[in-house]
Amino acid sequence: MPDHTERDLLFELFPDTARKLYPEEGPSAPTLGLYAVDGGKLAVVYGDRLLELEPLEKHAKHAVMCDLCNTTLSRLDAVFYRARLSDGLFQYVSLCERTSACLNRTTRAKLQHLIERLGLIE
Ligand SMILES: [Zn+2]
Repeated sequence: MPDHTERDLLFELFPDTARKLYPEEGPSAPTLGLYAVDGGKLAVVYGDRLLELEPLEKHAKHAVMCDLCNTTLSRLDAVFYRARLSDGLFQYVSLCERTSACLNRTTRAKLQHLIERLGLIE
């Protein structure tokens, strides 16, 4: 449908504007998202794929950069997550403690980049 294409393009090029125009919904396809789930975990969703990020102890000794919004975080504001990519293979990411604020600062392209790094997009 033409409406969906326009909306997707808007999200791709002007994500801030798109979020104001479509506060309730993201691009129609594929679904791309990062959601807080039970137990402090995050769920990364791409289309019908889902990857769980398991929080690790905060153990940074220095400030780190958020892997999603690229904000420099004090060690107290950062959370390290571990994603199991396959048996015995893990990917570690550091993200803002406040997921909603982090998502407001980032773009769809950066979220897609993170999801690529986690292996959800081949
Ligand atoms: Zn962030």
